[in-house]
Amino acid sequence: MTLSWSALLPAAGDYRDATPPGSPSLVDALPLGHGLSLSVVADGDAGLHVVPLVAESRAGAGDGAAEGLVALLAEGDAAIGKFRVRAWRGVAVSGERAVTVDQTNESVIVGDAAVVKWMTQVPEGRHPAPSLLESLEAAGFTGMPQPWGVVEWSPSPEAEPRLLATVAEYVADAVDGWTWAVEDVRAGTAGGGEAVGRLIADFHRALAPTARPASADEVAAWRSGAFADLERAIEVTDGAAHDLLVRQADAVRAAFAEIPEGGSVMRVHGDLHVGQVLRAGGAAPYDYRLTDFDGNPVVAPAERIREQPAALDVAGMAQSFTHAGIVTRKHNPDLAPVAVTAAAAAGRAAFLDAYRARLGDAALLDKRLLRPFALRQVCREFTYAATHLPRWSYVPEAALPMALEES
Ligand code: ADP
Ligand code: MG
Ligand code: MG
Repeated sequence: MTLSWSALLPAAGDYRDATPPGSPSLVDALPLGHGLSLSVVADGDAGLHVVPLVAESRAGAGDGAAEGLVALLAEGDAAIGKFRVRAWRGVAVSGERAVTVDQTNESVIVGDAAVVKWMTQVPEGRHPAPSLLESLEAAGFTGMPQPWGVVEWSPSPEAEPRLLATVAEYVADAVDGWTWAVEDVRAGTAGGGEAVGRLIADFHRALAPTARPASADEVAAWRSGAFADLERAIEVTDGAAHDLLVRQADAVRAAFAEIPEGGSVMRVHGDLHVGQVLRAGGAAPYDYRLTDFDGNPVVAPAERIREQPAALDVAGMAQSFTHAGIVTRKHNPDLAPVAVTAAAAAGRAAFLDAYRARLGDAALLDKRLLRPFALRQVCREFTYAATHLPRWSYVPEAALPMALEES
């Protein structure tokens, strides 16, 4: 078989622009019927890539590879060579269409029932999603698109399994929180805050069996990591963002120094913000579902699976309500800024109140961590804006003074 990158890379998305080094060579293939396969392809640097294949080309929506994978899941768990298929549910369905929104990987909707996500690059180390979904399934958590299954591949029996593809229930007519939370703020209401507070409390309760005491090394690592995130933000920013960070650096450091000893850690989402919550249904009561269990993209792949304090997720979500307010203020100059900020604060407060009320005595949250983790998140947003998306900088610039005022 003679492969060429031009025939293997997706037609759209971040991935297309970076042709891997050397020539592609086929490493392994999981047959999906009719000349289709889920293939592992190596590049000249020993990097591994996931390619749904039809003959010698990438299979796109309509070629049947995603249908083939859904059909395979319908047959249940399987070990096929170095591939392991974990199937929680699924029925064979047909009809493929591409997901067209901005995405890191490539997703295909099958029969308006399931979404197949091909993981473009074979991630280094163990991916957080399979074990997280396993725990959530075992606990009966229903606040996510129902997972149908995952496909993993181990280069050798001793090696960590690598995630190649995930399949989940397709949630029709869903929008994420950068749409719904902004709509809520614009409408001047706390909107989804309360429902999302219950959703995240249920999510954490489902993961509570993974909780254990934090080690002294872990606590030290949160502190040093937070200081490092501040230093990096100062280093990569310039202009007004940089000046603001320098001016507030001592106050931010003082907040980080207050990260307490002890506490507990558990499996968490790791990249929680309103954009990870889909809202479905044309009118209230809406259905809110948690998505994207890939972990934090700014953390090294091998670290994404690490246990963390529940406060990391809670601070991230709470902070994103504030950010939705800042975004709304920018895009709706016709609205009174005070009213917008008040609505965002109401969404945030409703989220925190409902989260605490729902968890009751479960006491997974150490609230002393909320402020330092929120500030750490803001530092990371400065870095993200400076290195990836300069037009996002106004968000951390507005958020930093607000997060410092929170007590
Ligand atoms: P990536 O990691 O490639 O960015 P995501 O998991 O974030 O992929 O999904 C990309 C987009 O596809 C999401 O922003 C959302 O709009 C949509 N999406 C993801 N999962 C579902 C689902 N189960 N049902 C409906 N839409 C989904
Ligand atoms: Mg996402
Ligand atoms: Mg993602």
